[in-house]
Amino acid sequence: MSCIFCDIINGKIPSNKLYEDDKILAFKDINPEAPIHFLVVPKIHIKSANEIKEENSGVVSHIFEVIPKIFSELNSSGDYRIVNNCGKKAGQTVNHLHFHVLGGRDMSWPPG
Ligand code: 5GP
Ligand code: ZN
Repeated sequence: MSCIFCDIINGKIPSNKLYEDDKILAFKDINPEAPIHFLVVPKIHIKSANEIKEENSGVVSHIFEVIPKIFSELNSSGDYRIVNNCGKKAGQTVNHLHFHVLGGRDMSWPPG
C-alpha cells in the first residue's frame, strides 16, 4: 500500500519539516490555504479519524499537546484553526490521519 504521508515520514518524499519526534511529524502543506498552514501526522499509519481507538489515541492527544508549541514558534500572538477532514465528502484526500493547522489570517465560519 502506498501512502504519500508515510513516504514523507520515511523520507522518500521531501517535505518542509517544522517538528519531529518519535511519534509525530509536522510539515508545511504543499498547497497552503493561509499564511501559516501545516499538517501534523502520526508516524503510525492511521487511515482517518474513524480509526482512532483506545489503543492508538495517545498519539492524537500528543499531537494536540504539540500543536500550540509549533504554532507559537511561528506566530506567537496569533489565533489558529485545527481541521481534520474525515472521509471523501468532508474533503479528505490523503488517507493517513492528519490535522491541518491554519493561521496568519482571519477565518470565516462555517467552512464550505
Ligand atoms: P486533506 O484534503 O486530505 O484534508 O488534506 C491533504 C493535504 O495534504 C492537502 O492540503 C494537500 O495540499 C497536502 N498535500 C498533499 N500532498 C502533499 C505533499 O506531497 N507534500 C505536502 N507537504 N503536502 C501535501
Ligand atoms: Zn500512511
